[in-house]
Amino acid sequence: MILYDGNDMVKIGCHDCEGCSSCCRGMGQSILLDPGDLFWLQQATGQSFAQLMQEKIELNVEDGLILPAVKMREDTDCCGFLTAEGRCGIHAFRPGLCRLFPLGRNYDENGLRYFVLEDACTVRNRTKVKIRKWLGVAEPARYEAFLTTWHDLRREARDRIAEQRSDEFARQINVKLLEIFYRPVYDTAGDFYEQFAERMARWRAEIK
Ligand code: SF4
Ligand code: SF4
Repeated sequence: MILYDGNDMVKIGCHDCEGCSSCCRGMGQSILLDPGDLFWLQQATGQSFAQLMQEKIELNVEDGLILPAVKMREDTDCCGFLTAEGRCGIHAFRPGLCRLFPLGRNYDENGLRYFVLEDACTVRNRTKVKIRKWLGVAEPARYEAFLTTWHDLRREARDRIAEQRSDEFARQINVKLLEIFYRPVYDTAGDFYEQFAERMARWRAEIK
């Protein structure tokens, strides 16, 4: 597997997904949402976590962790943000995994790097694009640092749940994850990374 960093050029340009929305259909609960995604969704919709949970997102249980994910509509099996024209209705605020596709993330001692999910995007004649441009986020270095911190937190939480083998401990961890990082509304006019750092400090203080 070839690993790339954010400044590398890779052949993933898919001509603006012209006429294709397959990444937005039939995805089950695989489009997990991190706290940064929730911040963007709140910017896009003005809705709180609880309001989004009524229709657009749902909870996914994986490896002992309960985390929100984009919800596919029951009638069409499409993401609730997909427009009738087959375009993303919140494109500028779309979740990180939607920005990423057809790339995957790899975390190791060298930090966050990317790999191409071969055959994931069916578009032919793909063009070369710089990964950070593909992601389309402001301040990509801060974004990547946040992703690494969030990845480490989830891994630590998963490991501790596995070690403790206690349903009550697992419940406490999952309640705290939602209560600290998702339920309280973000100040969408403010700096997400500063707010995330404050919530990380609260997590460290409350999870011993
Ligand atoms: S499969 Fe490729 S072209 Fe189709 S929506 Fe996904 S990234 Fe875009
Ligand atoms: S948020 Fe946008 S890009 Fe992501 S699955 Fe939904 S419609 Fe597609």
